[in-house]
Amino acid sequence: MQSCQAVFYGASCYLCSYLTRMQLKRSIFRLSLGLLAESSAKGTTVSIIILVLRALLPLAAVLLLRYFVDQVTAPEITGGLPASLLWLIAALALALLADDLLSYAGAYYSRKHSYLLEGHISSLIHAHTGKLGLKYFEDPLFHDRLERAARDISWRPAAIVSDFILLLRGVISFVAMAYVLRNFGVIPLLILVAVFIPVLLVRRRNSARLYETRKKVTADSRQASYFSWLLTGEKPAREVKLFGLGDYFDRLFRNHFRASKEPEIETVRKNIFPESIASLLKVAAFAGVLVYATARYLDSSITAGELAMYLVAFRQALLCLRDAATGYTGITENRLFLQDLFGFLDLKPDMAGDERAPEPGSFSEIAAENMSFRYPGSDRPALQDITLHIRRGEKVAIVGPNGSGKTTLVKLLCRLYDPDAGRITVNGSDAVSVDPDSYRGLFSVVFQNFMLYYLSAGDNIRLGDTPQSAVGSQQLAADKPNPEDEPRDKKNIQEMRRAASAAGISELLENLPDGYDTMLGHHTEGGRELSWGEWQKIAIARAVYRKSPVLILDEPASSLDADSEYEIFSDLSRITEGRTCIFISHRLSNVRDADRIIVLDGGRIAETGTHEELMAAGGRYSTMFTRQKSMYR
Ligand code: ADP
Repeated sequence: MQSCQAVFYGASCYLCSYLTRMQLKRSIFRLSLGLLAESSAKGTTVSIIILVLRALLPLAAVLLLRYFVDQVTAPEITGGLPASLLWLIAALALALLADDLLSYAGAYYSRKHSYLLEGHISSLIHAHTGKLGLKYFEDPLFHDRLERAARDISWRPAAIVSDFILLLRGVISFVAMAYVLRNFGVIPLLILVAVFIPVLLVRRRNSARLYETRKKVTADSRQASYFSWLLTGEKPAREVKLFGLGDYFDRLFRNHFRASKEPEIETVRKNIFPESIASLLKVAAFAGVLVYATARYLDSSITAGELAMYLVAFRQALLCLRDAATGYTGITENRLFLQDLFGFLDLKPDMAGDERAPEPGSFSEIAAENMSFRYPGSDRPALQDITLHIRRGEKVAIVGPNGSGKTTLVKLLCRLYDPDAGRITVNGSDAVSVDPDSYRGLFSVVFQNFMLYYLSAGDNIRLGDTPQSAVGSQQLAADKPNPEDEPRDKKNIQEMRRAASAAGISELLENLPDGYDTMLGHHTEGGRELSWGEWQKIAIARAVYRKSPVLILDEPASSLDADSEYEIFSDLSRITEGRTCIFISHRLSNVRDADRIIVLDGGRIAETGTHEELMAAGGRYSTMFTRQKSMYR
């Protein structure tokens, strides 16, 4: 008997440690548990208590069943039901009720825990994305990984929670059933262990196949999402309709969709055969045990109650193993998601620096020294050997043909990338030693492809400066009046109006149905859509609102009408308010009044000087200017 118990406990311990070892090898098990606990320590504790109770209930049920059958079949029972039997029935009913109640509580906590986990993982992804430089965003492999981590976020966290519950409950219940079956004999115990191992191995191999298949098809899956967006997104809708591209993009979508799904279906199909063999083993084991148990009952070595208990316990043990194997497989299938998630969270921020940037008031100059830069994956440098000094209060124009590196220069100056060679200095100190967020606080930019925010008109402008205090202040003030907010709100509102007025958009915004509180864009019901040029003016207002010492304008008038463009460039100081200004314009008449003009060509500085100096030099700028002038004659 003792050898039998030893085999069972040995087998149980082996199975538990096998599961744990397999997972720990990839750290996924440990990391996932960490995630669960981080997202809600209370939720994890409650879920564990519920699962342990639920896992032990079958033990109580089979023990009660045994006593029940033994009492019912006892020879002394004649006539009415004895009180002890009624108590046993009540206890059995209570065990069933407890199982139901615990399952409701378990479902509630697991759902709550899943949503907390989803929120927690989303926040981790959002926070980490904010720390990564622009270089990452231009790497397709980064997007594959991010796509895989973000795509499944709506259901993977729930799957992680339920798979863990299934695995742990299965293992605990199995150990409990092993305890019940300890006196049954060594053969059934060995059979149980024997059928479990192939099931586990088959599932493990199958989930590994699925993992590899899903990894391979990520690029196709992303392409499919892209074509789907082209067909359903607001932005592409005009061109898609006008050029009649719907069918063409739908075909491309279906090609990539098929390429992303068919290998997975094929893998699942290939998995059916080994799974079926494993199931056959399970059924054969159960039938074998049925024969063995009946034989033992017939030779009177066990009672009818024990027969019932062993059969139920054996069936229950098989179900526990099935649950444990399903939970285990689920966890290994979640590997792809978790590995991508942890792989993503492990990406090291590529921009270093922990010093504070100079205070806006003490900013004196920004300089580039022999700076060169090549985009990742590009075979030629976008900028080469750039040296320039821009002093406080200067207005510097950057001009040059398309692709000459103007926007790249701007992106490097405000540290969206770091140069490959050379350096940028601020007030003489190397920019790479400055914390990137603090450094970027020195700049306010209107990008060529500026953003539209589907928020209120006022928030669109106030996003320019410290959103925590300024943005949404009207709504916050309405929800929860705070007397201390008031003067600041008033100041914000005044400054917001001033910025809107400098950008030439105040009149339009004030005349919207709810003034600055009007929601912009079609994204929300009742939102007001603006023309592209009006959006551009809002982007200018946002940049003006930000109180940074350097203002960068990259083609700020590309969508503006001639009057608005004239207003902006004829009196640039209205916008810059004495700040250092770096601006890019293709229309060279706009740059005439700049303190200095830098002419870029092929990523190098071709010329630099005032308008008069460059015209007198008769070089690249002079040719471009003369050509443009002749077009207006
Ligand atoms: P400009 O603003 O003068 O028109 P850019 O600075 O945008 O020129 O681009 C300079 C060069 O760098 C061009 O050859 C362009 O193709 C390349 N380039 C721009 N952005 C990227 C990018 N994200 N990845 C790779 N190459 C880029």
